Amino acid sequence: MTELEREMLKSRIDAVRAQVEQAAVKAGRNPAEITLVAATKMNDAERVRFAIECGIRVCGENRVQELQEKYEQNAYRDTDLHFIGTLQTNKVKFLIGKVSLIQSVSSIRLGQAIAKEAAKQGIRQDILLEVNIGREAAKSGILLEDLPDTLEILAQNPALHIRGLMAIPPIADQTTKNLRYFDEMHQVFVDILTKKYDNVNMDYLSMGMTNDFEAAIACGSNMVRIGTAIFGARHYPAV
Ligand SMILES: *Cc1c(COP(=O)(O)O)cnc(C)c1O
Repeated sequence: MTELEREMLKSRIDAVRAQVEQAAVKAGRNPAEITLVAATKMNDAERVRFAIECGIRVCGENRVQELQEKYEQNAYRDTDLHFIGTLQTNKVKFLIGKVSLIQSVSSIRLGQAIAKEAAKQGIRQDILLEVNIGREAAKSGILLEDLPDTLEILAQNPALHIRGLMAIPPIADQTTKNLRYFDEMHQVFVDILTKKYDNVNMDYLSMGMTNDFEAAIACGSNMVRIGTAIFGARHYPAV
């Protein structure tokens, strides 16, 4: 990284942390209760390490192979590492023991695959259940009507600890359009919290990304996953 790149990354991190704090205060909440997850995809180990030097405490990766590569390069030392992307059951074994939280558990089958691997390693894996709040065919995630059964079944598994919910609402041209999805998610979150399922702790409601994290916080999110606002625009290679 050039000196200029380092300066820019540092100032973006400072700015995002300030914005998250302001959004919390504006919503009448304690900024300390909001977890900022830096979505580190497509940023190499050097950039990730520098982001951590600048105060990032949680990294989120969304591809298993990329996570493994950067993990081997010691990119995430001194941070919590979360998995936030689509996960195939056959890749689960590469994550267990490396990540503190799997945010994107989108089916009973995936939850059980995680439990099986965690049990093998003598670990109780923290997970979030991903809800397909916009009912989008192209997106993974549990439909609201399937959430109670999924909770009941996965909560019984001693190798899993359900810590909350995650959602990625449909891409909206205006942030206001996602308010109803964020509101709906918060309501579901509070419902589950109130029902007090055994072995379930509704600690985290993970929603909000670069374009909508302030709105998400206003609606009750306490975990935001931010990539672009921290690292700049991602340049996907042409295929
Ligand atoms: C990339 C990614 C983010 C961050 O997206 P930005 O819009 O760049 O902030 C959040 N969540 C998931 C699951 C992601 O893959």
